[in-house]
Amino acid sequence: MTTTVLPSYEDAISRYEPVIGLETHVELGTATKMFCGCRTDFGAEPNTQVCPVCLALPGALPVANRAGIEATIRIGLALNCEIATWCRMARKNYFYPDMPKNFQTSQYDEPLCVDGYVDVEYEGKSYRIGIERVHLEEDTGKTLHVGGATGRIQGATESLVDYNRAGIPLVEIVTKPVPGLGALAPEIARAYVTELRDIIRSLGVSDVRMEQGSLRCDVNTSLNKPGEEWGTRTETKNVNSLRSVERAVRSEIIRQTSVLDEGGRIVQETRHFHEDRGDTSPGRSKETATDYRYFPEPDLVPIAPDPAWVAELKASLPERPSAKRARLSEEWGISAVDMQSVANAGAVELIEETIAAGASPAGARKWWMGELARRANETGVELAEVGATPAQVAALQKLVDEGKLNDKLARQVLEGVVAGEGDPAAVMAARGLEVVSDTGALTAAVDEAIAANPDIAAKIREGKVAAAGALVGAVMKATRGQADAKSVRELILQRLS
Ligand SMILES: [Zn+2]
Repeated sequence: MTTTVLPSYEDAISRYEPVIGLETHVELGTATKMFCGCRTDFGAEPNTQVCPVCLALPGALPVANRAGIEATIRIGLALNCEIATWCRMARKNYFYPDMPKNFQTSQYDEPLCVDGYVDVEYEGKSYRIGIERVHLEEDTGKTLHVGGATGRIQGATESLVDYNRAGIPLVEIVTKPVPGLGALAPEIARAYVTELRDIIRSLGVSDVRMEQGSLRCDVNTSLNKPGEEWGTRTETKNVNSLRSVERAVRSEIIRQTSVLDEGGRIVQETRHFHEDRGDTSPGRSKETATDYRYFPEPDLVPIAPDPAWVAELKASLPERPSAKRARLSEEWGISAVDMQSVANAGAVELIEETIAAGASPAGARKWWMGELARRANETGVELAEVGATPAQVAALQKLVDEGKLNDKLARQVLEGVVAGEGDPAAVMAARGLEVVSDTGALTAAVDEAIAANPDIAAKIREGKVAAAGALVGAVMKATRGQADAKSVRELILQRLS
């Protein structure tokens, strides 16, 4: 293979039009699996959450989990889909070592939900993404290749399989092809997955965490010259973060342009996205539906949701995340852009609860989007798991509002809260972090600083008040930062006037 110089993104997009499509898998957060009663806890010892049904032992028969069907219908309704009044599960036949049945129970030509849409906001404009289908299936197990350098099967000495995940309900959400986005295709792809994540999170049916694999995304990309037919698409797998969704589309547009420029042909195949390099490499050539020999699952009865039940589920859908963001940005007095960053940080509910616990919107947002977001980023945890609760953040802000803590001390108290030392008041007491408000003690510290710095004091007496900064610093140091700098400054000027 010869090394080619890749075109720039701007160059590629000036000559070709992308069409994208996204297939998203969401692992449902049901307590038990889709067709048996096994638990679904994440991180359990390998092969401890299995039974004859999900291991496909002879004679074992599946029974559908109503909660899985209900969650799928709710997702479909939230995505403005039509809900089938009658449909069936199907067997998708293929052999994979992490799939004990040698077929996946899925849906083929009779999905539970069809023909919906999601409106996605990007930089003040709205884009409608069509939803082709939302169907229910089951997850596979997990294979672990050991002994090699890369964790991949190449070079491995052994492969281990864990069936705990096999049979966990999975919902696949497939968009219609999305043409016409031009240069914004990567950004809109990311905005779509973000919106989808927020909608599903608001339904409470999945924790939708990309890093844990409960939200997984495959990105289809094709290119065509303006006015020509759509090109052959590739399907990029292993896209494990929102940022990667955007990078994967961009890198495929550049790669396909380079192939087409050289007179090459795009092969219909799956490709693997590499987080580290930001590009894709070829996987297997893509199967077509006929390769899977789909047929209706004979061991399960058809699913025929009662329209009255579906209407009930529709009426009880929660407020749409976009509507909620619009309402809250007004209530909190912040711009739509700031609201979007709050949503992206996963802080909407946390800030809401902090306000409900008594903090002002500005105070609540300051801690969650500042100190706590930084800490969550550094330690690689979700904001909700950073170690502080909304009630604690509200209590912290109250201590600041009452003048018992200044900003610097409040940060130290928060550090203690996050470290598990207790509520803010307890940390403040245990670490002795309260602002010194006792005027007697402050005056003594000021007088000491004046006595220790006669030159500076003389300057201030001569009217050079800018020199007071040095004395303020000395007092703050003497009080270990526990004085209110403004009062200290006033006191110094007063003593030297
Ligand atoms: Zn089981």
